Amino acid sequence: MLAEVTVSQVELHHDHEASHAHEGSSRGHQITILLAVVLPFVALATGAALAWGRGFDWAQLGIVLFMYFLSGLGVTLGYHRLFTHGSYQAVRPLQFVLGVMAGMAAEGPLIWWVATHRRHHQHSDCEMDPHSPHAALPEGAGMWDRVKGFAHAHIGWLILDHATDPNRYAPDLQADPMMRMLSRLFPLWLALGLAIPTALGWLVGGGEGALLGFLWGGLARIALLHHVTWSINSVCHVWGKKAYRSGDESRNNALMGLVGFGEGWHNNHHAFPTSARHGLHWWQFDLSWVIIRTFERMGLVWKVRVPSPERLSEKQLTA
Ligand SMILES: [Zn+2]
Ligand SMILES: [Zn+2]
Repeated sequence: MLAEVTVSQVELHHDHEASHAHEGSSRGHQITILLAVVLPFVALATGAALAWGRGFDWAQLGIVLFMYFLSGLGVTLGYHRLFTHGSYQAVRPLQFVLGVMAGMAAEGPLIWWVATHRRHHQHSDCEMDPHSPHAALPEGAGMWDRVKGFAHAHIGWLILDHATDPNRYAPDLQADPMMRMLSRLFPLWLALGLAIPTALGWLVGGGEGALLGFLWGGLARIALLHHVTWSINSVCHVWGKKAYRSGDESRNNALMGLVGFGEGWHNNHHAFPTSARHGLHWWQFDLSWVIIRTFERMGLVWKVRVPSPERLSEKQLTA
């Protein structure tokens, strides 16, 4: 069913772009998909069986949260706001660390992620958007079509490889040896994202703790973060409030803003893509923005971009 709704899109992309398909990216892709779809179920089932009747393990929860923040902030601060949108400048060591942290989220190699996401912005909710819940909907779409569109935006697009051309969408990163290295070594960062919770688990609980750390802080945490990230693509293009003119179906969703470290203020983001701040009002909590401001005060980042009050009122939809 998923294949039907997107086949015309896939053919279109292949016509235009498959000839430029990136070898390393598609391997990273397959690793991501395997981790995302198959392993988490194994991890959850095994973890639940092991935890059965043992009482709640606070140390393991701490490891899950630590890894969730570490890898999730790598994606929002690094892959998204810095490397994709250049919404601020950062010292090289910080760029490197953010690239490694993001790799631990197992969302694909840096350059592939950036190229795909730039294409999303350029063609948001249109035919060339890699993951729109709306683009492939037929005229007068019914409920079932909408469910399929949502599933495509959430995960289906990953399985049907669209092979965004990195030379077209990320030539700046392709020209930077450190970015190429960070991207190429993606499998290593992914492995690190599994090794760290395993080691922490061993510290708090020996051999069994190591296994639990691997299952929960490694695999299950990756699955959780994947679904949060993909919900920005699916949920935040369907449910929430439109505050600014953005020319697409992006929405502000407070729940996703909270669990997605500020990324859920997605309509704000589509209206002002180069803004380092996504939660544009004090009541729109944006953890990534809080951290960028802290880095700025520490002198680690500069040229932090935010929209001017004039630009904000120009695009505002509601009073
Ligand atoms: Zn979007
Ligand atoms: Zn973006």
